[in-house]
Amino acid sequence: MEKITSFTIDHIKLQPGLYVSRKDKIGAETVTTFDLRLTKPNDEPVMGTAEMHTMEHLAATYLRNEPDWKDRVIYFGPMGCRTGFYLLLAGDLESRDVLKLVTDCFRFIRDFRDEVPGASAKDCGNYLDMNLPMANYWGRKYTELLETIDDTRLVYPE
Ligand SMILES: [Zn+2]
Repeated sequence: MEKITSFTIDHIKLQPGLYVSRKDKIGAETVTTFDLRLTKPNDEPVMGTAEMHTMEHLAATYLRNEPDWKDRVIYFGPMGCRTGFYLLLAGDLESRDVLKLVTDCFRFIRDFRDEVPGASAKDCGNYLDMNLPMANYWGRKYTELLETIDDTRLVYPE
């Protein structure tokens, strides 16, 4: 089988950032997949599953309620390697187009102190696997990066 696009990125050079992972044409529509990279691959500790799960619940809730973007949100979910998340949006988009959206989303995660939405046996497949304080921590860490980000962290390294 062919090596898929996301395995052709040089993960040794990759720094935390906000990148366009790929664009897919589906009929007349383009779907842009963003790589929300929170940790440096194979160098920093990865995120724990419980905090990633909490962040997934919070980000999905935020994005699907955001008035300007909610109709374009297709998917938000964790990378298997636990160094980041994927965000899929309808439209032919660049990182700068979504910088405010993603920053606001992670500010929401940073500042969230309430009951995690959907964290119940009825709504989720593993509702006890949550870690809000660590989700807040990663929200703060990624927000700090996004608030001062430049082009070296918005486009994949060559
Ligand atoms: Zn869940």
